[in-house]
Amino acid sequence: MAPALSPTRSHHVAVIGAGPAGLVAARELRREGHSVVVFEKQKQVGGTWIYTDEVESDPLSVDPTRSVVHSSVYRSLRINGTRECTGYRDFPFVVRSGVSRDPRRFPSHGEVLAYLKDFAKEFGIEEMVRFETEVVKVSPAAEEGIGKWRIESTEKEKKVRRDEIYDAVVVCNGHYVEPRHAEIPGISSWPGKEMHSHNYRIPEPFRDKVVVLIGNSSSAEDISRDIARVAKEVHVACRSNPADTFIKQTGYNNLWTHSMIESVHEDGSVVYQNGKTISVDIIMHCTGYKYHFPFLDTNGIVTVDDNRVGPLYKDVFPPAFAPWLSFIGIPWQVLPFPMFELQSKWIAGVLSGRIPLPSKEDMMIEIKTFYSTLEVQGIPKRYTHRMGNTQFEYDNWLASQCGCSETEEWRKEMCLANGVRKEAHPETYRDEWDDHHLVSQAYQDFSLYS
Ligand code: FAD
Repeated sequence: MAPALSPTRSHHVAVIGAGPAGLVAARELRREGHSVVVFEKQKQVGGTWIYTDEVESDPLSVDPTRSVVHSSVYRSLRINGTRECTGYRDFPFVVRSGVSRDPRRFPSHGEVLAYLKDFAKEFGIEEMVRFETEVVKVSPAAEEGIGKWRIESTEKEKKVRRDEIYDAVVVCNGHYVEPRHAEIPGISSWPGKEMHSHNYRIPEPFRDKVVVLIGNSSSAEDISRDIARVAKEVHVACRSNPADTFIKQTGYNNLWTHSMIESVHEDGSVVYQNGKTISVDIIMHCTGYKYHFPFLDTNGIVTVDDNRVGPLYKDVFPPAFAPWLSFIGIPWQVLPFPMFELQSKWIAGVLSGRIPLPSKEDMMIEIKTFYSTLEVQGIPKRYTHRMGNTQFEYDNWLASQCGCSETEEWRKEMCLANGVRKEAHPETYRDEWDDHHLVSQAYQDFSLYS
């Protein structure tokens, strides 16, 4: 174990992004005594939860010259976990009164944004945020001292480019912006329209069309049902389905699930592995996103390789730059907000010298061992940061470093129960449930914070 930094030192820290990760990072860093500047390219806090009707000029989002729209949220989106599980641990996402508030247990995106604004107000976060200020370059500034970082940013209104030095940088830029696409044999001569779910907002443009969605994510599940209300036919194709899959969804006469697409053709047809051939108007890729840090220049020390961001110790610190560069929100298949909160507490405590880190060599050994384990298990690099069932072990490890309590039992049970319900009843899980005893336990805990 390397010695901790000199105890309780305060540093000048830049946080990139004022979404759910950046907001709680700013709070924890300031609580720990650091001075914090949050860079946010949008006009308000909330990140991906700031819904906009605007979409990108390139519906597939591949044109590098396109103007990027940050949010991927569609108009009908309701959260896919309970509000009790979704909120930060010490600022529960409870029902609040107000004209446009949504009291449902699985509320719409607008309620999440309102909650994040409540959080920012409660903890005075906005005074640390420079809005409409985009970070365009982050690079080591060794000439300024060990561990220092140069941040170049542009302010939209004044069109000013600033160049500043910080002791540390915490990257919270969001990971659902740069789309991944499926490879489809024959696509270059297929005459239909292609798009990514990043640019989906409302069902109306799909009226009377035949649409294929590729993917099995929550987005594919929600969007296929949204579109099926107006489209002629909706076909969901998924790589993980067995080759003979062809299932009509109950409750619909125009929604089917298939195995993956085998090929597409000049006459507009789409051929599935299950042998079906269908003439299609639109293919929508609901195939997720790539980690993307267009501003980060580390001379190749931190890379994104087949969607593995690395090397990262515990998904947070690149050993070569620890603790002066860190990332929040890299793991997926998690309850994001509580994890962001714990990662933030850990980073803040490590920076002040209160919490020790292992030596760079030991961190690298742990990372390499983890990569080898994945390789032996045949897990592709792109799943490096997938957590699922291991998330609570990870959260508890972070909690132990920070001296906080472990994940509440009700939160674990509720999260697992919701996952089962979602799988079995994708249509109704947001409105019907039977875990009332867990809700009571959650609200008992929440009373500590009211
Ligand atoms: P974001 O919310 O994306 O925030 C990042 C911020 O960084 C943005 O404000 C952005 O403007 C800013 N930024 C980026 N680059 C720069 C730069 N260079 N300079 C300055 N600012 C910059 N999570 C749930 O818990 N429940 C759900 O039901 C759920 N549903 C989802 C549905 C969809 C369609 C998507 C896309 C995500 C969903 N998520 C859900 C996950 C969601 O992304 C997280 O809840 C959370 O928003 C991630 O927070 P973040 O702060 O990491 O990123």
